Amino acid sequence: MKIAIDGPAGAGKSTVARRLANELNFTYVDTGAMYRALTLKALQQGIDLNDSNLLEQLAITTNMHFQTQFEGQLIFSDGQDVTSQIRSPQVSAAVSLVSAHSGVRKVMVKQQQALACSDSVVMDGRDIGEFVLPDADFKFYLTASLEARTRRRVREMQTRGYTADIDTVREEIVKRDQIDSQRPVGALRVLPDHIIVDTSDLSEDKVLAVILEKIRGA
Ligand code: C5P
Repeated sequence: MKIAIDGPAGAGKSTVARRLANELNFTYVDTGAMYRALTLKALQQGIDLNDSNLLEQLAITTNMHFQTQFEGQLIFSDGQDVTSQIRSPQVSAAVSLVSAHSGVRKVMVKQQQALACSDSVVMDGRDIGEFVLPDADFKFYLTASLEARTRRRVREMQTRGYTADIDTVREEIVKRDQIDSQRPVGALRVLPDHIIVDTSDLSEDKVLAVILEKIRGA
């Protein structure tokens, strides 16, 4: 079974997708983490984020894999654990620029499809329902008000030990949403077969319950 979860930054996709995968005993694939890991490597190598050919080459030559642990998931880039580094404000600010290149997306979508081909998966991102798993059994679109998403992101950053100014975080979310939903390929958008869940006023437990109910009731 394939479950796609799309939606904008801070809608609570990753937490719910991870818990859902756990509950169903499926593999969880955080596709945002893959774009972030690529962005981290590009920043470390001082690559021009407008250079689509170089970024596509970087995507082709970067080896990424996930390791599931009891408390969450680790992501390795070329054998190195980059789980914490990919959440830095520098990566968050640059990732939408990297992921907007169609060549980069082509490579990433292929890698993501390969990860999904042999297992039952829950995959979260922006273009999962449309491009990565167009035949998914269930497609969810998680969304929330800008304020709710900002609050969530601030809390998440503080938990990770970063200082987070609410206005700066809000601005970054708006900018990222804009780039993610306006790029020519793989843009974030609601599909006719997406089941929309507004998480603004729902606890994590409640969001998970709503999604499980849809799946089990189908
Ligand atoms: O999910 P997360 O917010 O960590 O994703 C980081 C960024 O990666 C997004 O803002 C978007 O630019 C990119 N992304 C994407 N396609 C996906 C997943 C993430 O373009 N499927």
